[in-house]
Amino acid sequence: MPELPEVETTRRGIAPWVAGFEVNEVIVRHHRLRIPVPGHLPERLTGERIGEIARRAKYLLLPVAGGHLLWHLGMSGSLRLVEIGTEPRKHDHIDLVMSSDLVLRYHDPRRFGLVDFIEGDPLDDRRLASLGPEPLSDDFSGAHLYQRSRGKRVAVKNFIMDSAVVVGVGNIYAAEALFMAGIDPRVEAGKVSRARYQRLAEAIKQVLAASIEQGGTTLRDFVSGRGEPGYFVQRLNVYGRGGEPCRNCGHELRSMTIGQRASVFCPHCQR
Ligand SMILES: [Zn+2]
Repeated sequence: MPELPEVETTRRGIAPWVAGFEVNEVIVRHHRLRIPVPGHLPERLTGERIGEIARRAKYLLLPVAGGHLLWHLGMSGSLRLVEIGTEPRKHDHIDLVMSSDLVLRYHDPRRFGLVDFIEGDPLDDRRLASLGPEPLSDDFSGAHLYQRSRGKRVAVKNFIMDSAVVVGVGNIYAAEALFMAGIDPRVEAGKVSRARYQRLAEAIKQVLAASIEQGGTTLRDFVSGRGEPGYFVQRLNVYGRGGEPCRNCGHELRSMTIGQRASVFCPHCQR
């Protein structure tokens, strides 16, 4: 599934050929995504110039005069740029033919992605209004985690994966950040100290920033910029390593389900 680093990598990859260019044509081959692609989209976008592409959580926001195209890659979506005239593959559902002479092409085999148009301020949209802070912003800190967690009995791993608390901390990043901070993923969120949340917030920023830098870790069919594969396998310390030795202490890493998600941690290093 595209995680925050892949979406950010996508934003950076497509921007040079999309932002500042006009939409010459919109082709919708398949309109049944998570919600139907708005029928007026071709009419609304054609002739519009796209501004600076923004990202909020895992949503991409492509601004035009008076509104924003909202794009979520769902479980299996990817955006890439192809030359005009490139034959669509199976599952290539939407094309934005840009005045940069490239086509922004959306591919989504499972069709859980979302393409919508928001008139007015996108941050007022209900899908964006309820989101917690961006993990790499100054709004996200140990103090924020500490305040939000008081009285919460949920496991700390599930707490940091809640998008109302902080966005973009998927299963891999939660596992890695908790290892880095030395926190047992099963501990009740409300019982973690301020100092430990400080370390955890720093660890979350570190693993996400490293992953963005390296182009994302998980998306098998991500294709960046002009068509080169953009996924990258980061060196993971715990995720997917259940039963293997901890790189820190050599003890066997433990694998268990926490809040319905596969979780791996070191019982020796994480307390
Ligand atoms: Zn260990």
